[in-house]
Amino acid sequence: MAELRLAPAEQTFVIRPAPAHTDVLVEDPFGHRISYLRVSVTDRCNERCSYCMPDEVQTWAAREDVLSDDEIVRMVATGTRLGISKLRITGGEPLTRPGVVDLIARLNACHGIRQIGVSSNGTLLARPHGTGTVADGLRQAGVDALNLSLDSLDREAYARTTGRDFLPQFLDGLRAAKEAGFTSIRLNCVLMRGTNEHELWDLVEFARAQDCLIRFIELMPVSSRHVLTEDNFLSAGEARRLLEFRLGPLTPLPDFKTNGPATYFEVPATGQRIGFIGAMTNLHFCETCNKLRLTADGKLRPCLGSHLEFDFRDALRNPATTEADLERLFLEVVARKPKEHEFRDNYQPRRRMIAIGG
Ligand code: SAM
Ligand code: SF4
Repeated sequence: MAELRLAPAEQTFVIRPAPAHTDVLVEDPFGHRISYLRVSVTDRCNERCSYCMPDEVQTWAAREDVLSDDEIVRMVATGTRLGISKLRITGGEPLTRPGVVDLIARLNACHGIRQIGVSSNGTLLARPHGTGTVADGLRQAGVDALNLSLDSLDREAYARTTGRDFLPQFLDGLRAAKEAGFTSIRLNCVLMRGTNEHELWDLVEFARAQDCLIRFIELMPVSSRHVLTEDNFLSAGEARRLLEFRLGPLTPLPDFKTNGPATYFEVPATGQRIGFIGAMTNLHFCETCNKLRLTADGKLRPCLGSHLEFDFRDALRNPATTEADLERLFLEVVARKPKEHEFRDNYQPRRRMIAIGG
């Protein structure tokens, strides 16, 4: 019998039969309805973003410590039996994992999966894959939506922030994604005072021209406390006000939601939507959180901004572990999901963002 800890009797979680109109099965004690799993498939990356990998010297998980394709598929299958219906494949840079397109096709085939997104820096999308590009491969594997990171349109600032002079590769990747037929592409831009606050309007304009949805993300104190300082932090509210100097007042769209915690506004003159992800300043940020995170080395994390994580790798590699054991462990993690993140409480990061999975 696999050794799995059982939840103490007072731990409560609610398992509900899914009503026909919703995919929610599992709810934690704070009412978070879990339907979304972010799956980090690697802790490696071809870029070196200052806020994600601030250390000079990188240490990667040993290959044998990273979950295999079969183990990831088994974890996702466990999740789907409990109500997970949406996946986001992330990393590190997920497209650096060998065979990632085939892995995604397998995940897409898991019963109950209705939506798969990929978060990427976009720089590898135009690479050849089979008879087309990686972007073509992802589309054929069933990926519905792409979140692509873009912090600057200035080649020098892009290179400074990401540690790599890859803006041309990003632009090729974006083109390849559109040619592959992706119609849902979101551009994620981390807000950094002194780096891109003067470019926000250009980025909005670029997103409009490319028919992409742009979202501005507040820096979070992940990886190291030093990635967020008083000097480089630019709040979502201030970014919005900077944009309003150029665009006029933006109209709040309280009813427009994507899968995550972004709040959206509309540019009245053009109808363009702009998202803001304010983990640090939005006090309601965690209220509707619907996700868990699986790290590349097999830890299930109930919250990005909490040190809680639960190891599944040993259980997955123990031949005695049954599917029922995995489900029980999964539900224990849901039961321990915190009410909210700890980023505002002098949080001291222990793992780099790249190792957790963004
Ligand atoms: N490599 C992919 C990418 O860059 O999109 C996926 C992984 S990355 C860790 C996921 C997201 O996390 C990116 O949008 C990145 O900008 C964001 N991110 C990383 N470190 C961050 C930090 N300290 N604060 C806010 N966002 C961060
Ligand atoms: Fe790599 Fe994405 Fe982290 Fe940048 S944010 S270092 S692209 S994983």
